[in-house]
Amino acid sequence: MHDNGTLTNGHPDLTAFDDVDFSEAEMRDVVVVGTGPAGWTAALYTARADLNPLIFMGPEPGGQLTTTTDVENYPGFPEGLMGPEMMDRFQEQAERFGTESRYGTVTHVDFRERPHRLLVDGETPIYAQTVIVSTGASARYLGLENEQRLIGKGVSACATCDGSFFRGETVAVVGGGDSAMEESTFLTKFAEKVYVLHRRDELRASKIMQQRAFDNDKIEFVWNTEVVDVLGEDAVEGIEVINNDTGETRVMDDVTGFFLAIGHTPNTDPFKGWMEMDENNYIQTEGATTYTNVPGVFACGDAQDDEYRQAVTAAGTGCKAAIDAERWLSEHGVAEAPAPDAERQPVEA
Ligand code: NAP
Repeated sequence: MHDNGTLTNGHPDLTAFDDVDFSEAEMRDVVVVGTGPAGWTAALYTARADLNPLIFMGPEPGGQLTTTTDVENYPGFPEGLMGPEMMDRFQEQAERFGTESRYGTVTHVDFRERPHRLLVDGETPIYAQTVIVSTGASARYLGLENEQRLIGKGVSACATCDGSFFRGETVAVVGGGDSAMEESTFLTKFAEKVYVLHRRDELRASKIMQQRAFDNDKIEFVWNTEVVDVLGEDAVEGIEVINNDTGETRVMDDVTGFFLAIGHTPNTDPFKGWMEMDENNYIQTEGATTYTNVPGVFACGDAQDDEYRQAVTAAGTGCKAAIDAERWLSEHGVAEAPAPDAERQPVEA
């Protein structure tokens, strides 16, 4: 086996499929994997194209927006709306046109041959003529108990989404990469003061982004510092930090907003070894399309975009994936399920 989970015969480990009987497996034209803005939009468009899409909700139905409060930057909603409500509306709209949604997570795939084989929760078999991967990415958090409890109540991993709630306040950003520089600079539009807390005394960010932050009077760098607790009952009322050089701890009680900028992880584990990905495991798509290296498999949303990561851009690529899948199906037609004991072959593009 290679480091990326690929077997020496060229495809990933398929032992999860060994005991699953595909002879009676449900066959679908379009299976959408993941229910953020990209997935629901892909479902909406394929439903309206009469493709009867089946969408799997995944481990976090609604995706990252369900951990946000007000969404004020989605066009068409001048008053803003709550993240969870927005995703409920996406779902309602997709289902109104015939999308079938189910709880469950696509855990394994076999992309050797059409129709593609999927396993839901490691056991339920599905055949899919086309697959739209919209599994999103997850922001990394420190994993502190109170940090998790206060997500949406002053703890956020998205300055673009939540920065404007901190007008005139003092906020802290954790991280030393380009995201931390970009988010802290953005937050100075609203906040009176922005601390950047970094665990080392040297930034990972590009020089130009560092300089922009250094030049900003509202930003104060706090070096060699890690956060050990987030304080407050229903809102952030401070943070406790440790200087990892001296071991000294202290409370920064002026902080009312706590932003994480320590990277994102795309939720692409089940597809590793099948699909071309970049060094951070984001799925690669061809040019301006949502085509992946696997024929009949399309990727959209944050699982393939580590640059823009907005609800509206994710919805846009979900729309593209639906149109790509629809055209691909009309060009290639549907494939019959193979006889249960037939050898599977690589798919031709
Ligand atoms: P990143 O470059 O991986 O930086 C993550 C930062 O978080 C690092 O400074 C890291 O510290 C810190 N960190 C990680 N885990 C931590 C933990 N548990 N506790 C405390 N600190 C932790 O991630 P990113 O800033 O999100 O950038 C990701 C990619 O997107 C990069 O390629 C970046 O260049 C790109 N990007 C570009 C732009 C732009 O050009 N406009 C904007 C944003 C992002 P260490 O340094 O000690 O490891």
